[in-house]
Amino acid sequence: MVKNLRSPVAYAKMKGLMSYFSALIKERKALASDLMLKLVASPKMYRRFDSHGFLGPEEDGADTLCFRDASPEKVTAADFDYLKVIGTGSFGKVLLARHKESEKYYAVKVLQKHTILQRKEQRHIMCERSVLLRALHHPFLVRLHYCFQTGGKLYFVLDYASGGELFYHLQREHVFSEPRARFYAAEIASALGYLHGLDIIYRDLKLENVLLDRHGHILLTDFGLCKEGIDVEGRTGTFCGTPEYLSPEVLEQREYDRTTDWWALGVVLHEMLYGQPPFFSESRSRMLQNILHQPLFLGPGISKPARDLLHRLLEKDPEKRLQNLAELESHPFFSSINWTELVEKKVRPPFKPSLSGPVDLVHFDPEFTQLPVPPSLGVCEGSGLAFPGFSYTSENYPAVTSQPSQR
Ligand code: AMP
Repeated sequence: MVKNLRSPVAYAKMKGLMSYFSALIKERKALASDLMLKLVASPKMYRRFDSHGFLGPEEDGADTLCFRDASPEKVTAADFDYLKVIGTGSFGKVLLARHKESEKYYAVKVLQKHTILQRKEQRHIMCERSVLLRALHHPFLVRLHYCFQTGGKLYFVLDYASGGELFYHLQREHVFSEPRARFYAAEIASALGYLHGLDIIYRDLKLENVLLDRHGHILLTDFGLCKEGIDVEGRTGTFCGTPEYLSPEVLEQREYDRTTDWWALGVVLHEMLYGQPPFFSESRSRMLQNILHQPLFLGPGISKPARDLLHRLLEKDPEKRLQNLAELESHPFFSSINWTELVEKKVRPPFKPSLSGPVDLVHFDPEFTQLPVPPSLGVCEGSGLAFPGFSYTSENYPAVTSQPSQR
């Protein structure tokens, strides 16, 4: 995350991430790699290794997981050149890497097994994995290409979003024009509608989780807080999320449903149009009170449809809030969007990240890119604790044929 306290957006973020919510943030951080861990905990993956219990000595051939467009041949840590650190997370680092043979670029998330084990995160997620994997079949969701492990580390090879975080761009420009904000909001909404169609609540929509690809399309990342199995009527009660994006019902620790994601979209849209979140206050407790009780105030400078949409998304009563993607698609703010073409990526992005080449890291924070690349990353050390069943090939992976309802 780029830290620039002069920007109201950054200011809000920094404020929000300070001590007042440290417990919450800790929890969020600890869950940040849930998606990856869900893969680890797959019941399907257990089939090959469950006779050894959950953890045991690493087996030959247990260091590769690849699926979907991966060839079933073994992929290992040594198949990549690790070029630069582009981010850090709670379990490890994210690196720009090049697959030696294909010369394709990926973002490789490297997680430390001992950190995962220390936090006892490896068992959590057993039955939730398959839906999340299906969720990755969407143009605006970061896609997982390969997974493999060495003695000490887990590797997740993801689409590389070379345009960096939307947060970074908004911070530089302070606000986006309405057409630009509309485009991002539409692509994000499309991804959320897709997840909802799979009965998944995303729960962690925020500017930092919206990345840009090299063309300027969005890629939603970090599925750590997703909650599965929540259908249209479904509700859940876990208190999680990032402070300024929390909906009133989550803040009050009431049961909530998928409309909490539409609230967060309202926060993101407000940030894009006004340069700061709604209900913002320098006092965090005041901000929370505002989220709960203050009527939404919208300053001048945005269109009537934009105002109306913000009111409909940032409606405190979830039952009166905009309910689904269909309602959103037909809202006047999006009247210029052709939703079919949008999902086919035929709508031209309003902004293309300037890149001099595939390894141009201009959109990433030097705080990360200046970090040294650990030389051990490409070394396939053979011993250590295995995550049994982590290995996987596309042959075993059921093809996803059905599209979920988008509503
Ligand atoms: P995470 O551990 O997923 O929160 O990622 C930490 C940081 O790494 C993010 O804030 C992004 O800036 C960066 N990052 C993560 N995934 C990608 C990706 N697929 N492409 C480019 N950058 C990424």
